[in-house]
Amino acid sequence: MNIVTCIKQVPDTAAKLQVVDSHVTWGDSPLIVNPWDEYAYEEALLLKEKFGGKATAISMGPETANEALKTCLAVGCDEAYLISDAALKGSDASATAFTLAKAIQKLGEVDLVLLGKQAIDGDTGLTAAMLGRYLGWTVLTQVIKIVEIDPKAKTIKVERFMEEGRQVCSAKIPAVVSVIKGINEPRYPSFMGIRKAAKAAIPKWGIADLGIDPTRVGKTGAFVVWPEIYPMPVKETKVEIIEGASPQEIAAKLADRLIAEKVI
Ligand SMILES: Cc1cc2nc3c(=O)[nH]c(=O)nc-3n(C[C@H](O)[C@H](O)[C@H](O)COP(=O)(O)OP(=O)(O)OC[C@H]3O[C@@H](n4cnc5c(N)ncnc54)[C@H](O)[C@@H]3O)c2cc1C
Repeated sequence: MNIVTCIKQVPDTAAKLQVVDSHVTWGDSPLIVNPWDEYAYEEALLLKEKFGGKATAISMGPETANEALKTCLAVGCDEAYLISDAALKGSDASATAFTLAKAIQKLGEVDLVLLGKQAIDGDTGLTAAMLGRYLGWTVLTQVIKIVEIDPKAKTIKVERFMEEGRQVCSAKIPAVVSVIKGINEPRYPSFMGIRKAAKAAIPKWGIADLGIDPTRVGKTGAFVVWPEIYPMPVKETKVEIIEGASPQEIAAKLADRLIAEKVI
């Protein structure tokens, strides 16, 4: 099976995001693989181990995204491709999905594309559905279990996570599948894997390599533009320490206070 996993590089979860002149910045905090995408590459590796074939990681982003791709190579992905071009700057989810679809088509025969459910910076959760539409393939979102794949019959059976339970879905492959936490336990890269990945040369594709018209992507191609981003106003909070001679007295005072504030 040929499996592609889409990886986004995002600021570290502990990064302090700030808005400067309506642009989000995270200073010099480290960049990481989007946490949800770790489940996507792990699932790609598990399927490759089960069925054979190839796991390929792709990322659209600046040159720094090579580091995220190197993590994918270090854990065991066979190939990685960076899609990077100045013309892609300002792309919305649609232009991102369109570009990823072109890269997947360039890769040739692909059975399954795995994505994380959401990127922790952009947070739209739209890329998987839009990618599926551009490819004209089945889309399965919120997948918590891949129950079975029949590569010969070209079918897939998954369980989707719902608040109330699980939904079993059967569909045709090729498919685009977005996965959630709990589907697997992502592995750590081995020392040998890190060394191998450090030496790997990752091919870079620009929009000309993908046959993309520059007006179709970036700010000009985006359906949604972000004219402004502003931070939430800081909430005024105050701390009050309730004192007392005994735990009973403190608890009684606390209860009175909560009743007075209409909390209980
Ligand atoms: C400088 C800048 C300007 C931007 N301007 C705009 C704008 O004007 N309008 C607008 O709508 N958006 C804008 N964006 C947001 C950006 O285009 C989104 O990050 C993109 O639309 C993907 O959406 P998302 O991050 O919400 O991903 P989601 O849909 O939440 O991600 C789901 C999954 O898709 C995959 N994925 C997502 N992005 C990539 C990627 N780049 N490469 C590989 N896999 C990926 C990952 O597997 C991820 O887990 C801007 C971003 C930047 C950095």
